[in-house]
This record gives sequence, structure tokens and C-alpha cells, in this order.
Amino acid sequence: MKIDLKSLNIEKVHNSFLTGEYTVKDLTEAYLGVIKEKNEVINAYLEVFYNDIDSQIEIADKMFKNGTATLMTGIPIAIKDNTLFEGHISSAGSKMLENYVATYDSFVVKKLKEEGAIILGRTNMDEFAMGSSTQTSAFGVTRNPYDITRVPGGSSGGPAAAVAGDMALASLGTETCGSVRQPASFCGLVGIKPTYGAVSRSGIIAMGSSLDQVGPMTKTVTDAEILYNTISGKDLLDSTSLTDEFKSTVEKSIFKKKIGVPRAFLNGGGINEEVLKNFEICCEKLKNAGYEIVDVVSDTMKYSLAVYYIIMPAEASTNLARYDGIRYGLSVDAPNLYDVYTKSKGKGFGKEVRRRLLLGAYILSHGFKEAYYRKALNVRDMIAKELLEIFEQVDVFITPTVPFPAFKLGEKMDDPLAMYMNDIFSAPANLTGVPAISIPSGITKEGLPLGLQITAPYLREDILFSIGKEFEKLV
Ligand code: GLN
Repeated sequence: MKIDLKSLNIEKVHNSFLTGEYTVKDLTEAYLGVIKEKNEVINAYLEVFYNDIDSQIEIADKMFKNGTATLMTGIPIAIKDNTLFEGHISSAGSKMLENYVATYDSFVVKKLKEEGAIILGRTNMDEFAMGSSTQTSAFGVTRNPYDITRVPGGSSGGPAAAVAGDMALASLGTETCGSVRQPASFCGLVGIKPTYGAVSRSGIIAMGSSLDQVGPMTKTVTDAEILYNTISGKDLLDSTSLTDEFKSTVEKSIFKKKIGVPRAFLNGGGINEEVLKNFEICCEKLKNAGYEIVDVVSDTMKYSLAVYYIIMPAEASTNLARYDGIRYGLSVDAPNLYDVYTKSKGKGFGKEVRRRLLLGAYILSHGFKEAYYRKALNVRDMIAKELLEIFEQVDVFITPTVPFPAFKLGEKMDDPLAMYMNDIFSAPANLTGVPAISIPSGITKEGLPLGLQITAPYLREDILFSIGKEFEKLV
């Protein structure tokens, strides 16, 4: 049976399951067919879970039969290689964990299983989620389905390419700074970074614990909302996950239909001309749809990237200290313990990871901690305070998601600072914990997707979804 995968979204599929137009098995097989055809070139999947697909289909079928099916039941979905799925390898794109088999399910996988989703496989990523192009993966680059000479973005390049290439209906990525939104933007998808604490981090291989969040990558805003509702919620295994009770205490401001543009911050971003033009068109469209667009002033947002590149390596070097050749992962035999440590890390970690671990150790070392780490934490607080002031004036603020479209494979790899510019507009949301979404906003002359980023106040995903659904229709 031929199913037009391009045109599908979650609700459509659910209805087709209900009417019997096709079965969960038919749909899963259609996706597996595309994976077979395309994955060798795109390299979105590192592994397809062929051995458990039949049992997952059986569970979904049963749920439809006994009336417990939800919108997510039978939906073929891809996960990222840092998301634990019991009994399966989770390597975080690294030689260090090449043979690491998860001993428990991450919270988000548990949720997907509960709803009977079909987890097709694990997808490629930058090593330990450090990167913006999926080129630091130890298992080869992933290509952008829109143009296979270009990167899909990163670090969730695999989850993005899987959906953009019709190798899954939706996927879950993770963010520390833009790793869901940036690849979504490069691959013409919707990507959301939820409020910090909205989704449990349990079972996600940690990078920067005060920044990490799991986020949906989908074709439509409604799909992102459905997936967000599936994976969010309190989890006792992550003390930073938020209870419903706490969420209900957060004051919700009245919707003003007012959108802010942080002009000075934008202009400092080194934006590509076509991206800027597209952004102005987006502003015009929102204005025509009845929104007031106003400039908002931000003195501190411009420091976000610098602050991120201090806090993240500090946290990453602490988190990744566990990969010492003894407790987890690759272990190189050596005559003494010190050599086991250094040789295992030297062999297990790639260049970008080693760069960040060294930077992190330096930042946290005696004498430098005050000068770098503490100062960065102070500036982080200042940015958060300023965002609160901005959200008193406007409902949300917007920027392009990334200052440029998908770049060529190989580009920026020898210039870490140029690579880090990918994250400039993402950083404020991760540092302050507020939610932000990237929504497809048009394509360049060369046919490359662009994204509009909307950032909302703490726990106001509802505003992102409502403006997002409206905006999606305007593009
Ligand atoms: N580009 C960011 C970085 O390299 C992405 C991190 C992330 O969100 N996982 O740190």
C-alpha cells in the first residue's frame, strides 16, 4: 500500500488508523521502506530497532482494539542517540559509549511506550551533543535531506534529518543551547525547547545539567504540542522536573497580542541578508494578522553566547568526569590507573569534546572559578531579570532562529568561534529556562529552509503553540 508520507501529521494518521484506511504496520513499513532507501546517504539513523518493532506494533494494535489508544499510539518516531531505551545502545555519538547498553528507560521513552508509539531507532548527533552540525559524531556526518551537500544542523541533526527525510513522522531531540531549534530551522521543521523542568531529564546522557531539555521535532506546531503533552510532567527521578501544582501557581499575564523585537541584539548577530529579509517579512505578516510589533531593548542578551560558553563547558566537564575508563564506556588497558584515565579519555573522546572538557576544567580551577564561572552565573541572573522586564511589555519576542541557513559539510569545522555563532539567538532561552520554538518561515533562493524563533515567558508554551499555529498558516 502506498501512503503519501509527506502529507501526514499526527492527527491525520490517528484518523486513518481509526477509519482503517491503513494499519500501524502499514505505516511503520512505509517508513522502514524510506529508511532503507535513503539512510545510507543521509545517515540519520545509527540503528533501526528492527528486533522490537513487531512487538511495539502489537501493543499499539491492542490499544486500538481495547479503546485505550491515544493520539500518539502507533506513531513512528525517532529518538536521539543520547536518550536511554532499555536494552538498546545509547552512544551519544561517541566512541566512548559505542557499546553502552541502556539499563533503564529514560522518562521520555517511558512516556512514548505508555502511549504505544513506535520507536523506530536511534539517530545521529554531535558527540555528547557538542556541536551545531552533527559533524562531530564519531559515526559519520548526517546530511540535510533538503541538500545533501549541507549539514542538517546539530546537535540533533539525526532526529531532524529523519523527519525531514520522511524516515519518521516525528522525533525527540535534546537541547543544551539550540540543539532542537537550530536543526529544526535547517531542516524545515518545528522544534521546541520547553521550559526548564517541564520535561524530565532522567535517562538523557547529560551535557550541561542546568541547561539540558528534551524537545519535540515535528512537521507542524500541533504535532509539537501533542508530543510536548506526551513527554512533559513530574518525574521523581529528576528533582528539577516541575509538578502540576507548582505550574498552577505561575501567574499568567494577559495576552496583549504584542510581540517584541530585540533590535540591537539582532543586529549584533552577523545575520545573513536573506535571513534578515525573511525575518522582516515575518514581522510584516504578523502585523497584518493583528499583532503589534515593537522594539524591545536588551542590554544583556548580547552576553548570552559568552556566558553559555563558560557555564556549559564547566557543567560538561563535571558531568563527563564519569567517563574515566573505569565506571562507564571505553576502557584502555594501561599499566597504572592514571594512564587508564588519560588513555581512555584520549581515545574515547573526539576533538570538540576534549576541547570543552579542558576549557571546563580550567574555568572551574582554583583562582579562575571566581573570574569566569561565578561571573558568568551573575550575568546569567542579569539576563533572566531583563527577560522578565521584557515580558512585562510584550507577550513574546522574536528573532530568526539562526543567523544563516544550513551551511556546507566541512564548513566552520576549523573555526570553533564561527561554529558557535549558530547558537547566538538560542542561548537566552537555555540560560534563563524559558521556552522557545522554531517554526519554518520560508526558504532561501537556493531552496534552504529558514526558521522564526519565538521566545515566551516561563511555562508559557501555550502562547508559543497559539501564535505558532497562527504563524504557520501565514507562511
Ligand atoms: N551548538 C551547541 C553547542 O555546541 C549545541 C548544544 C546543544 O544544544 N546540545 O554547544
